[in-house]
Amino acid sequence: MKAVEHYFTQLNEAAEQIENSGQGTYLEGVVFGLERWLLNSVEFTPVDASKEEKRRAIQLAILKGMRKSSQPNHQMTPDALGMIVAFLVNELTQEKEAIRLFDPAIGTGNLMYTVANYLQGKEVEMYGSEIDELLLQLASQTAELLNQPIELFLQDSLRPLLLDPVDVTLSDLPVGYYPDDDHAATFELRGAQEHAYSHHLFIEQAMNYTKEGGSLLLFVPTNLFSSPEAATLHGYLSRQGQLEAVLQLPKEIFKTEASAKALIIIRKDSKKTLPKRDVLLAQVPSLSNKKSMELFFEKVRQWK
Ligand code: SAM
Repeated sequence: MKAVEHYFTQLNEAAEQIENSGQGTYLEGVVFGLERWLLNSVEFTPVDASKEEKRRAIQLAILKGMRKSSQPNHQMTPDALGMIVAFLVNELTQEKEAIRLFDPAIGTGNLMYTVANYLQGKEVEMYGSEIDELLLQLASQTAELLNQPIELFLQDSLRPLLLDPVDVTLSDLPVGYYPDDDHAATFELRGAQEHAYSHHLFIEQAMNYTKEGGSLLLFVPTNLFSSPEAATLHGYLSRQGQLEAVLQLPKEIFKTEASAKALIIIRKDSKKTLPKRDVLLAQVPSLSNKKSMELFFEKVRQWK
């Protein structure tokens, strides 16, 4: 814990320096602090720290910056969710020694790097795409400090990507309407309303960049299957894959009920060659409840 505090204090000082001098926001100041760290600057004293300690320190500074930010897309996926995704990815890819992962809404990278730190004994190649330059810069600096090789794309992830399909696409999807109606019209999941839902288009794009037989683990709004476009979505999912799990998440993770999300697992199976699994419907218990968490993990193992 000491190393986490040490690095957070130094990042916080750098960020406040930028903020207080009016040169930028606190979050931009975190970029400045990370740059000092990367350059071994004299203002930044290194101490021994694990990858996970470094990630936590960076995450604390970014979280503080995001609380001060008014940008709605400045959101980071909490650690608790990353750990659940890491467990599921481990289970779903147990027979593979090497896997390729992609997050089309990678943001600060916190979800991806939490998963990376908790995946055991696998060779992992990572890819991420993001539209917000500041967040992608944070993701890139964090990767460098964690010695985590990753290929990052700064772009609208709903546009074509220079990426071969991956084994697992994991993402905490942006929720809302996609602003480019003309481009949305090129998607099957554009829907019948005036504007298309971004999260629906992201599901289709994630499917496009996942291998046949690969998995998609996506955080989606809890009302995904009761929205006006739910029937179209169900039809699309049953043509392109199999909906394998719908996991409700502990309420206390989310600030408001409206922002609550569920985790869905989809297997790509557009050629219809895979055996059908029962759909796992479960409530993920609170992470602080060790016993319930063990039972949940056991339930997943049995389902698999
Ligand atoms: N998992 C991320 C993390 O841990 O930092 C947070 C993801 S956040 C819920 C959703 C992200 O989607 C935001 O960073 C937002 O900027 C990004 N986003 C929204 N629309 C996008 C688009 N069209 N293309 C790429 N990224 C987009």
